[in-house]
Amino acid sequence: SRLVAGLSKTRDNIVAGIDSIFNGFSNIDDDFYEELEEILIMADLGINTTTSIIDNLKSKVKELKIKEPKECKDLLIQSIKEQMEIKETAYEFENRKSIVMLIGVNGVGKTTSVGKLAGQLKEQGKKVLVAAADTFRAAAIEQLTEWSNRAGVEIIAQQEGSDPAAVIYDAIMATKARNADVLICDTAGRLHNKKNLMEELKKIDRVITREYPDAYRETLVVLDGTTGQNALSQAKEFNEVAEITGIILTKLDGTAKGGIAIAIQSELGIPVKYIGIGEHIEDLQKFNAEDFVNALFN
Ligand code: GDP
Repeated sequence: SRLVAGLSKTRDNIVAGIDSIFNGFSNIDDDFYEELEEILIMADLGINTTTSIIDNLKSKVKELKIKEPKECKDLLIQSIKEQMEIKETAYEFENRKSIVMLIGVNGVGKTTSVGKLAGQLKEQGKKVLVAAADTFRAAAIEQLTEWSNRAGVEIIAQQEGSDPAAVIYDAIMATKARNADVLICDTAGRLHNKKNLMEELKKIDRVITREYPDAYRETLVVLDGTTGQNALSQAKEFNEVAEITGIILTKLDGTAKGGIAIAIQSELGIPVKYIGIGEHIEDLQKFNAEDFVNALFN
């Protein structure tokens, strides 16, 4: 499948190593668990998540009186899935009048993800508008214009350097005038200046609350999967300045550290809603923990 192919770098890294442990060890002992732990950490599941997964596995092995390492693989997969358990990930914004904000630092794949999401919703028959509220970079506006042409959706933009809240205001007016379903906003996220970022987000928030109070709100943080544990700390920082409802984890096709999806979801308790596994519109996929873990380990 596209998912399996998109995750091949992490897959080659994890699966090959893990199978050699299950097949290479004759006993389930400390060395066995240590090597297992090492591989999970290499795939960027992080220490905390890895430790809970291994602890869970150990208690299952004990409870079921398992003796053969070979029999552990399914239990490991089960432990990882349990670790990721989260309240059902909702995509309510798809079916309501909604405003979806994407935030994230430069280069993580924010603009691309706005474009892909807009294209997919349009394909579902939704009337979609995009707002170029990342006014910090002229390139972001040009790039979003290209994406909106490709996706066949209308874009609301102003000049570079203009007030993001003013762009959002315009976009809300256009959304109402055209009776559009979903407004997707590309916003900037400059973490090195948290105070400014917070003020910018607050200002946008006020505009939405005043002008479009009935809209269903979704705020997604976009993170670059190739940065591994850095993505996790970025998510934590954004979570301090905004009410995050989900995560988009991009570029998983370009990394062997795809386990970061498992770490983020289990450590933050914020659902990963989409993953990026390539440059095409269909390479932004809804994230499903079960499918993800199966694609990595089976
Ligand atoms: P922004 O600065 O956060 O808006 O980032 P962009 O949307 O401009 O993306 C930065 C680069 O990452 C671009 O070259 C994108 O094509 C690329 N990119 C984004 N998502 C993915 C993905 O899922 N896979 C791959 N391979 N590249 C991606």
